[in-house]
Amino acid sequence: MKGAFRIGFGVDSHRFLPQKTNKKLVLGGVKIKGHVGLDSHSDGDVILHALFNALSSAVGEGSIGQSFPDTDSKWKGVNSQIFIQEILSKIKKQKLEIGNVVISLECKTPKISPHEASIKHNLAELLGVPLGCIAIHATSGEGLTSFGKGEGIYGQAVVLLQSKPK
Ligand SMILES: [Zn+2]
Repeated sequence: MKGAFRIGFGVDSHRFLPQKTNKKLVLGGVKIKGHVGLDSHSDGDVILHALFNALSSAVGEGSIGQSFPDTDSKWKGVNSQIFIQEILSKIKKQKLEIGNVVISLECKTPKISPHEASIKHNLAELLGVPLGCIAIHATSGEGLTSFGKGEGIYGQAVVLLQSKPK
């Protein structure tokens, strides 16, 4: 692969399920108690889906929907961490490692700040990077979009990959 650095960018969004639905909200692999889940074939983890898209784009691969189609019952209700593990192994094979990760979320609920530390911790472990390499920002965007109005969550992720030192 050409160049010492590769940048990746990815987005994902899902709508909240009706209030009484039993599906749990999962963000960055962390279960958010007391909040209804997102409507998705898998666990609906917008952070991990946006992150997958960012990681795969950095190595010129397709989006999560192309790699794990929601028409395949194999991925129904699945823990999205397996998607990340799969793309990480491709990244390793190309002798690249993660430099840093930026996650940005837009939603009205849940409030992200009480969960930020545990999400960061989980991402650091999943990606095998120090905590300081991960940033999570969240905004309600002043309620200007359907996400800011509470209909779902929009996630964006940027990653920097770098060649492993020889
Ligand atoms: Zn998704």
